[in-house]
Amino acid sequence: MDRKHALVIGGSIAGMVSAQILAKYFEVVTIIEKDDIKSSDVRNGTPQANHIHTLLVKGKQILSEIFPELEKDMMKSGALGLDYILNGQYFVDGYWTPRFASGLDSYFSSRTLLESTIRIQVEKNAKIQFMNGLVTSLVTDNNKHVSVKIKSGKDFSSEQILHGNIIVDASGRNSKTPEWLQDIGYAKPEETHVDSNIGYATRCYKIPKEYQDVKEFIVILNHPPYQPKMGGILPIEGKRWKVTMYSIGQDLPTTDEKEFLEFARTLADQKVYNMIKNAEPESEIHGYRVKGSRVIHYERVKTWPENYIVIGDAVCTFNPFYGQGMTVSVLGCKLLDEFLNKNLSSRENLTLEFQKELYKKNSYPWLLATGEDFRWPTTKGQRPNALARMTQAYADSILYLSPHSKFAAKSFQEMMQMTRSPLVLFHPKLMVQLLARKIKPKI
Ligand SMILES: Cc1cc2nc3c(=O)[nH]c(=O)nc-3n(C[C@H](O)[C@H](O)[C@H](O)COP(=O)(O)OP(=O)(O)OC[C@H]3O[C@@H](n4cnc5c(N)ncnc54)[C@H](O)[C@@H]3O)c2cc1C
Repeated sequence: MDRKHALVIGGSIAGMVSAQILAKYFEVVTIIEKDDIKSSDVRNGTPQANHIHTLLVKGKQILSEIFPELEKDMMKSGALGLDYILNGQYFVDGYWTPRFASGLDSYFSSRTLLESTIRIQVEKNAKIQFMNGLVTSLVTDNNKHVSVKIKSGKDFSSEQILHGNIIVDASGRNSKTPEWLQDIGYAKPEETHVDSNIGYATRCYKIPKEYQDVKEFIVILNHPPYQPKMGGILPIEGKRWKVTMYSIGQDLPTTDEKEFLEFARTLADQKVYNMIKNAEPESEIHGYRVKGSRVIHYERVKTWPENYIVIGDAVCTFNPFYGQGMTVSVLGCKLLDEFLNKNLSSRENLTLEFQKELYKKNSYPWLLATGEDFRWPTTKGQRPNALARMTQAYADSILYLSPHSKFAAKSFQEMMQMTRSPLVLFHPKLMVQLLARKIKPKI
């Protein structure tokens, strides 16, 4: 493969991180982004940025490897360094979880700040350039390599075709790759959907004076299968709280002011309500509806362009509640690095092989998200197998143990933060504690 020019469709988290990786292997990398990336507001292309975004510890660790100055720059811009256990208050099954220093820390900020700080790192890389343009289709002359058709310039009125030795689609959950490929003669890839019907409503507040020195975030968890409502407060840069109401399957939160507060009041605990009821709002209430989780099975296709890769949300999206999306996107970029490092010089048809590897990498977070979704009777789609259901039920029982055991709280967080495999939950000490408290996995 020639290594002259790599193209990336989409200049968000997966796009920018994969561009940084590609710059190790290609002379020039062009990121094509339809929005004005310099905008300090939430962009049209990433409406999810209005809502709480937490970066898992694993995601933070990988981002620090790829961008050594990112953490320092985030903190300089007002992000808060918080420990997921010491600074996190979780209301689980009627109890608050214990708090202690766990070393499971990350930086907390708006998603917009994280994205713009990653962009600052990427702009330092002389091999990477940004282009403002909308990719509208793929073109091919021999069915092995594709190029992109782009609308750019004023009002996107001019059209051009760009060829890349490799092209990465990182255009997010509304990626048009399946349609674009069909238009040039490829078969439509299969998809798996788990529809759990999720609603978010989020508002920013000024942190009231009495809370300004309190370094904590709060999550009031829901309880399957009968209490779907959840809510949380996250401190972010600019002395603001991001406050999110969330529900799954039914009772979805709305953007109506009274209903927002009423939703908070009727969570399993009223702490969030009491904190916000007199606080000063800094934004309108933003809503978001997510159908659920979706994976596009590029790994199953028979024919595939030799220079095309799909990454991030464009391949696999999750119920956002578990906070996995950005970390899984970044893990996919790390995989791309390892994959190109190993195969770029020695192999020709490597893009489909990459999609197969990526599918394997994504399957654990997929099981985690969809397994939990099926705890709700309203969820529709292909159910996980019996083993996965049992593992999920067991993980839930460790969650319900966590208010009563520091060891359980830490083990559960290590799994959620992707710093350790789910095997961490099968420690004999946890099994003994479960028996002692008579907590039984509910399958
Ligand atoms: C409500 C909600 C809450 C979430 N909370 C969390 C959380 O707490 N933690 C977490 O890790 N994840 C969370 N996520 C998931 C997270 O937002 C995504 O996983 C992550 O942003 C994926 O990044 P991406 O780069 O793949 O796609 P995106 O961030 O969606 O970016 C796609 C980019 O492509 C551009 N684009 C699209 N089409 C074109 C085109 N044709 N031409 C040019 N450019 C194009 C868009 O403008 C956009 O910039 C949440 C998601 C939602 C919906």
